Amino acid sequence: MAQLRTHRLLDEREKIERFGPRPSTIRCQEGERSCAQCCGINNFIDRSTKAKALRLHKRTLAVLKAGENVKKLVQTKHELMRDEKDTILCQSIRVCPFAGWLDAKLDHNHDLVHATSNPMARRVGCLIHPSRFSDRRELRDLSVHDAIICDGFFCAAHMWIKEHHHWVIQLFPVADYSRFLHNISVLDSLIQLIEYCLGRPIRKSDHESVAPKLAPFIDALSMTLAHREPSHFGIVQLKRNGDEVRRQEPEFNDEDRMLRKILWTLGYTQQTIDVEMPWSATECFGDSQVQSENPWFNLKQSFLELISERV
Ligand code: SF4
Ligand code: SF4
Repeated sequence: MAQLRTHRLLDEREKIERFGPRPSTIRCQEGERSCAQCCGINNFIDRSTKAKALRLHKRTLAVLKAGENVKKLVQTKHELMRDEKDTILCQSIRVCPFAGWLDAKLDHNHDLVHATSNPMARRVGCLIHPSRFSDRRELRDLSVHDAIICDGFFCAAHMWIKEHHHWVIQLFPVADYSRFLHNISVLDSLIQLIEYCLGRPIRKSDHESVAPKLAPFIDALSMTLAHREPSHFGIVQLKRNGDEVRRQEPEFNDEDRMLRKILWTLGYTQQTIDVEMPWSATECFGDSQVQSENPWFNLKQSFLELISERV
């Protein structure tokens, strides 16, 4: 039988000494949203919806089939890590193969069944968390970190996300939660846009009235997310050796400055922003049918409508 190297978990005082005070609000699993970014779930060259869904399907199926058998879990871990190795964006940032879909179960044919058919609405997280086992056994020492880190670490987003950021995140689809939770620059750019539309600072009570008006723009923005440069995480570019390089922010000094800034902080290259977007109003509001099927036209159009109407 495979031996599981086990760590004693830290008590609350030891956790504070090692990781700092426990955040007052835990962002990892919030309502229907879930993250797992620190488990490496987004550290892949191909972060398209399709690639992510395939990856999570494969992981979840393999880990559920291994069940509570430590030997099988170790074997599954090595197989998944071997298969994913060349698809990882930054090799020095750890990717744990035990992060998968939490809502999935095995049916009698040993296929996955889900609480929701939409892969983008599924909850992600730790498939070997103690809460997943009837005896709450601790198996996270099998991970690419160890149980102490899995149990006690909370990322910097817990410090920087304020309530107004949080309600902006909630405007986006569930599947984009971790992307926006860790991109304070884009959240601040979106807040600037909302405040421009409101003509005043944002308030908590704005959520109900603002959210429906922003919805077309947010939908259009989500449709273009696949066009981002995968190595760009907000204002940082991640090299494959793990080095982070601060991206040089271009001058945004025209009427579309706010939209350009949002796109840039989301990780689009300057080239994409300049070449793909229909920047002139004629281009945007021309009557070609092709335009309505082009996500960039929809994005620009919804942006112009948003800022012209004011919320
Ligand atoms: S990256 Fe932060 S919010 Fe996401 S799961 Fe890890 S600690 Fe939680
Ligand atoms: S074992 Fe740890 S690193 Fe792996 S998925 Fe679970 S919490 Fe994340």
